[in-house]
Amino acid sequence: MEQERSGQLAAMRSGSAEHGVHSDQPLWVISQRLEYETLPLRSRRRLAYPVATLADGTTLAIPILVLTGQAHRPRLICVAGIHGDEHEGMTAQLEVWEELEPDEIVGTLVMVPVANPPAFRAGMRRNPEDMLDMNRVFPGNASGTVTERLAYHLFHGVVAEADFVLSMHGWSSGARVVPYVEYPRNSPVAEASRAAARAFGLEYVEAWDWPAGMLVAVCTRSGIPAIEPEIGGLGCTVPEQRALYKQGMRNVMRHLGMLPGEPELPAAIHRVTRQMLFAPSGGLVRRHVELGCAVQAGDLVASVTDLTGVPLASVETPIDGFVAAVRLMASASPGDCLAVIFQPVEVLS
Ligand SMILES: [Zn+2]
Repeated sequence: MEQERSGQLAAMRSGSAEHGVHSDQPLWVISQRLEYETLPLRSRRRLAYPVATLADGTTLAIPILVLTGQAHRPRLICVAGIHGDEHEGMTAQLEVWEELEPDEIVGTLVMVPVANPPAFRAGMRRNPEDMLDMNRVFPGNASGTVTERLAYHLFHGVVAEADFVLSMHGWSSGARVVPYVEYPRNSPVAEASRAAARAFGLEYVEAWDWPAGMLVAVCTRSGIPAIEPEIGGLGCTVPEQRALYKQGMRNVMRHLGMLPGEPELPAAIHRVTRQMLFAPSGGLVRRHVELGCAVQAGDLVASVTDLTGVPLASVETPIDGFVAAVRLMASASPGDCLAVIFQPVEVLS
């Protein structure tokens, strides 16, 4: 398997034809911060941005796809794969890369399909090099551990000075989620982010106080509007889920004036608040609700037993609402999220 991967990498570097309409583009290896304004108008670039040499001597690089359209601005940066087990954003980006021509857009579309390659290779949320969660270490550290270096170079070398950032997530590999978009609750760019969250075109949006260390938190504190959709789960990609991501990307581009036309929106977009339900005890989890189903305060959501079936905990929802995320992985540690209940609070106009 490793030999196959090495062979593919060599082929990419030599620019040989692969599958896909635009995958014969040569791979440009950049050594420093990307100067987007120097890229020719109406062009596409496949880039690799080396950030660290690993223990075995291999070079860790961030893959970047850049479509430069009829003008350099606005610059939209789409980042997927910060968590290695959230795959819908990754595949959606590759399909948008195949489908869009530079001539069709005004501005620069930058896509990072897999921001955390070691985590993706391992099929894990965290980077096995240092077991850090990349979405908690931004803006990173140039002389830190592997994840900290990835975050540093992604933020300072790729994302900084963007006009908008779309951080594409998929909840987690052990669970499924109702597609929704987060935007910042308290930020100088909250209104611009909220407007884009609505334009993304999912039925549910949520204003959230992003903790420090998240890419979108660092962006909004730097004055860059940003949103973070959650689509997918189970560590997989399926056509209907990545289609939502592709439509959302196109809607954001319409919203920013990069594509013609208006965003395609559902009949109503609800702002929701969330109640997260955590495991009181570790053990073996069984859910008692379906994703999307309505629940009332007091309804049993999940139960936890020990490995011989002795009951350890029953988890009930304290609020009315509907099930927005649910853990399907049976193994849980204390404090793991077992479910999320959404409560709609207003219809966005
Ligand atoms: Zn994530």
